This record gives sequence, C-alpha cells and structure tokens, in this order.
Amino acid sequence: MSILETKKIVKSFGGVHAVDGLSVGFEKGKITGLIGPNGSGKSTLINLLTGVLPMDGGSVSVSDVDIFKLEPHEVSDYGITRTFQEVRLFEQMKVIDNILVVLTKRNVLSSLFEKHKQFHLERAEEVLKKVGLWEKRNDLAKNLSYGQRKLLEVARVLAMSNGFGSNSEIFFFDEPFAGLFPEMRKIVIQVIKDLKGEGKTVVLVEHNIDIIRELCDNLIVLDSGQLLAIGAPIEVLSKREVMDAYLGE
Ligand code: ADP
Ligand code: MG
Repeated sequence: MSILETKKIVKSFGGVHAVDGLSVGFEKGKITGLIGPNGSGKSTLINLLTGVLPMDGGSVSVSDVDIFKLEPHEVSDYGITRTFQEVRLFEQMKVIDNILVVLTKRNVLSSLFEKHKQFHLERAEEVLKKVGLWEKRNDLAKNLSYGQRKLLEVARVLAMSNGFGSNSEIFFFDEPFAGLFPEMRKIVIQVIKDLKGEGKTVVLVEHNIDIIRELCDNLIVLDSGQLLAIGAPIEVLSKREVMDAYLGE
C-alpha cells in the first residue's frame, strides 16, 4: 500500500522540465531508493513533496487524502520530514539546541530561552548518542566537520520520528551518505534500518549502488524528470535503460 502518491506532478524552471508529469507511489513501511543521473529531478521531487517548492501541476496524496498545495509548515502535520542535500543547520546555535528547536516546534528565540521539558532533553540525548555527537552537544553547529554536520541533520530528523506530538511517518534523505567516512556511513545505515524497523517509510536518494542494494526494498529511477523504471532493486538494476542512463552521465 502506498502511503504517499504523486499524480502527474510537474515542475519546470524556465525551459527545464525538472519533474515532468510524474506518477509514483511510496510503499508504507518500506525503504524506497530514488536514483537517477545528476539533474534527473530527485531533489526537486523531494522539494515538491515537502512543500519547499510549489507544484506547477498535478497532485499528491498522503494516506489517500489528495493535496494540491503542500505548505512547508504543514508537511510535518502530514508526518513528512526530510534532510537537505545541502545541510541546513542553525549555525550559531549549539548542537543540542539544533535538536531541541525541532522538538519544541517553537521559533528559534523562544526555544533558546525556554526551560526544556525533561522528555525533550532525553530525546535529544538519545538521538545525539545514536549518531555519535553527544560529546559535541555544547559545540556550535558551525564548528562541526562536514560529516558531523550531516550526522546532526540526520539526528534532527530522527528526533522527529518520536517527537511527542509530531510523529513523522515518512522520511526523505537526500544523499545523506555523500562525503561521509565509512564509520559515519555505518551510523546512517543503522538509523535508516531502525526507522524501517519501527514501521516508518523511508525515501533515500543515493548514488552508491551497494548501499542501495543493502537498504532498499523498492527503487524508482528518474531520468529527465520522468519515470525510467520502478520495482525491486535486483530487477531495476539489471535493466538496460537504467544502465544506459548512468553510463551516459
Ligand atoms: P537531482 O537532484 O536529480 O540531481 P535536481 O532536482 O536538483 O536533480 O535538478 C533537476 C533539474 O532542475 C536540473 O536541470 C536542475 O538544473 C534544475 N533545477 C533544480 N532546481 C532549480 C532551481 N531552483 N532553479 C533552476 N533550475 C533548477
Ligand atoms: Mg539532488
């Protein structure tokens, strides 16, 4: 069963059809890999499904409810959360405050001065330990290394999986492994596996085919904003047109 479906969604930038009449479904409780050459529309699709960009046409349904306009502040109400390909943190804030802000869902300023509830602090501790950033909790986000920044974004998304009032069901990860050392990759792999273990739905953009094979139940391949192939990884990856799209990159 699809928890999230797109119906002929369209997004163009000038003359570029970034997402071109795409109809795909994401299965509940599964990990779906979203692959395709650079510029094939993967990030744009995520931006549309998380309300970061408005759709030019088509619609999206979440748990069979049709939505024509997804607003960024509404997507968490639909249980949708994501990481950005270009990490976005509150740079001047401490690592732990970057987590507390999303848990309290207040604006940044009031969150800083608020006396945080014990369960928020416990949740923040739990997710920071999980990604190996607990020791860094009092460092400013801007002082983290590239890989640590990516891990902090993953921790923030993870915090939302049981955010006390904002339970995310659908998680988009846009290239979370890019530029990570092997030890850090292992952490993110485990995070994604555990989310699936909790029955969550994951959509993963990733270029490394070994990681895709290890994690994904389903694969969606985009090319020029259109669906090139969909199905089980082993079948999809053996298709001639999929290989050609990659080799032609
Ligand atoms: P992918 O994530 O698969 O690499 P993107 O979704 O980032 O691909 O990009 C799809 C196409 O849309 C590309 O041709 C890209 O240049 C274009 N594009 C994406 N975002 C923008 C934007 N904000 N403004 C103009 N063009 C964009
Ligand atoms: Mg991208």
